[in-house]
Amino acid sequence: MSERNTAIVLAAGQGKRMHSKVQKQFLEIQGYPVLYYSLRCFQESPLIQDIILVTGEESISYCKEEIVQKYGFTKVSAVIPGGKERYDSVYAGLCECRDCEYVLIHDGARPFVTEEILKRGLQKVKETGACVIGMPSKVKLSDEEGYVKETPNRKCVWTIQTPQIFSYSLIREAHDSIRQKDMSKITDDAMVVEQETGAKVALAEGSYQNIKITTPEDLDIAEAFLKH
Ligand code: C5P
Repeated sequence: MSERNTAIVLAAGQGKRMHSKVQKQFLEIQGYPVLYYSLRCFQESPLIQDIILVTGEESISYCKEEIVQKYGFTKVSAVIPGGKERYDSVYAGLCECRDCEYVLIHDGARPFVTEEILKRGLQKVKETGACVIGMPSKVKLSDEEGYVKETPNRKCVWTIQTPQIFSYSLIREAHDSIRQKDMSKITDDAMVVEQETGAKVALAEGSYQNIKITTPEDLDIAEAFLKH
């Protein structure tokens, strides 16, 4: 039997930095909600068999009617409520997965994921069971006073994006185990695997367009990307 891959799309955040009444994942770019674009990518990808959409309790019927049904996202098998923190929403999604070999955890606020990114990530995840999408980045490390201390090799510093892709059993076990502990320092999904398992986490290239919509300026940038 061929493998079954599930995308968990996260859209349960409040998005306070957007300073808007409408949550950022539902704001429109070029006439479609931000969330529409990543769902369309997963819907159209032959690599993905089903999609679990995680959103706020109050947005479930909006998502079902105004997004899933309206745009014919037939691969969405469940629209479920998320939790207080992002990792709670991820866990809710993991508990909803059925017979899945690889799970792709994606921020619904990142509209520009592509088929090529999914291909690269799924190819890499087979090496170790865990793969994070990101881009090599130029950064400097500073001291406490704000002076440059070091310029790390660009090839070894990555800005992390999503999707983050895992063997289902690996990420589920890691989450089950970490939930008994302090999760306050957890900022992404791979950290759960890094802390709770010995698995190596591979990195695969995303793209410079695979941005997360966080502030009103990001919406302008997204509009510009779509226009080109
Ligand atoms: O808040 P942040 O920008 O890091 O959120 C990243 C993604 O995680 C967004 O798509 C957001 O909707 C989602 N999220 C969630 N549940 C939370 C917090 C964030 O699904 N409790």
